[in-house]
Amino acid sequence: MEFDQSGVNALMEITTRPKLVFVRGQGSWLEDHNGKRYLDFIQGWAVNSLGHCPPELVGAMGKQAAQLINPSPAFYNQPSMDLAKRLTGASCFDRVFFANSGAEANEGAIKLARKWGRLNRNGAYKIITFDHSFHGRTLATMSASGKPGWDTIYAPQVDGFPKANLNDLDSVRALIDDKTVAVMLEPVQGEAGVIPASPEFMQALRKLTNELGLLLILDEVQTGMGRTGKLFAYEHSDIVPDIMTLAKGIGGGVPLAALCAREEITCFEPGDQGGTYNGNPLMTAAGIAVFDAITGRGFLDAVNARAAQLSAGLLALSAKWGMKGERGVGLLRALKLDRADGTQIVDTARDWSPEGMLLNSPRPDLLRFMPALNVTEEEIDLMLARLDEVITKVRG
Ligand SMILES: *Cc1c(COP(=O)(O)O)cnc(C)c1O
Repeated sequence: MEFDQSGVNALMEITTRPKLVFVRGQGSWLEDHNGKRYLDFIQGWAVNSLGHCPPELVGAMGKQAAQLINPSPAFYNQPSMDLAKRLTGASCFDRVFFANSGAEANEGAIKLARKWGRLNRNGAYKIITFDHSFHGRTLATMSASGKPGWDTIYAPQVDGFPKANLNDLDSVRALIDDKTVAVMLEPVQGEAGVIPASPEFMQALRKLTNELGLLLILDEVQTGMGRTGKLFAYEHSDIVPDIMTLAKGIGGGVPLAALCAREEITCFEPGDQGGTYNGNPLMTAAGIAVFDAITGRGFLDAVNARAAQLSAGLLALSAKWGMKGERGVGLLRALKLDRADGTQIVDTARDWSPEGMLLNSPRPDLLRFMPALNVTEEEIDLMLARLDEVITKVRG
């Protein structure tokens, strides 16, 4: 059956989409306009931490929508304060500014660091970021990103984001001058292909930035909120960052993000920062439902158990097919292919009959897995078995 395609050309074309429309989702499963089901290991790009349409999120949003959607950020609302308190209580941070996307939270982090540099570092404004990093799609966050080609698409870039190499402290040191105010990185580079910063590197970076009086900013948009098996990925390396940004998983699928900072860094004054939708009760009520689920008893233990299962299964597939192993932290994992057939595998898995499967190939020789954090043991087994069948078909 065809879906009504009359609206296709009314949309700006910003990516090549398969000719299907998803009409409903439940847990790890999506259903398209033909009633075909898909096992979803993308989950809105690591966004649906509790899967599709989880009852606690649907319930919290329905209740809040009926009560109060948006009184404006010029007034307090209870859910935003309740979520901020949860985030500061569970982290090393003292203050939270809510935003609507990862890029916007990172813009806020950049602004906060620049303001702090103006007040405390004689106008220092440069933020050292990393090759192949991804921080978002606003002009400043594209400039901060180390994605190949992004320096030219919308040139000129926003100034002040020199790029170092991940896990190479000397490359960071070499870029530091009297205009440097901060170092910013993803604890695991997601879009680059799931490349973890080593705990040793994170610790050395913290030591170096402390010695020089620079800020350490962590972009935990993809790694935060339980994705790596701890609530925040910085906990794996036992450091105390100055600023952290969250998005993706924090809203369980709805637009919610957070800029978190320690008290001594927080230097915004009234008028410096804001946004019409920021911290509205509808989205922060969603955030509370997600937070309470993720921090519930046994939840992160289950994430770690599923992560171990996924890792072992991917390693077994790798061995069987002569691939190059797997890597990742928690439920953010990648299978390293021995050839560039990632796109074929993704397309074949999606078109599989009678049930499809959604995977992601951020690079031609890599598959990335970002299941719901509450994915079941059976769903991981099913994905691994089906992936084996798909590879068999693709490689003949
Ligand atoms: C997805 C992502 C962003 C951008 O988030 P948006 O909500 O798409 O703006 C920023 N940083 C990292 C690490 C991401 O994975």
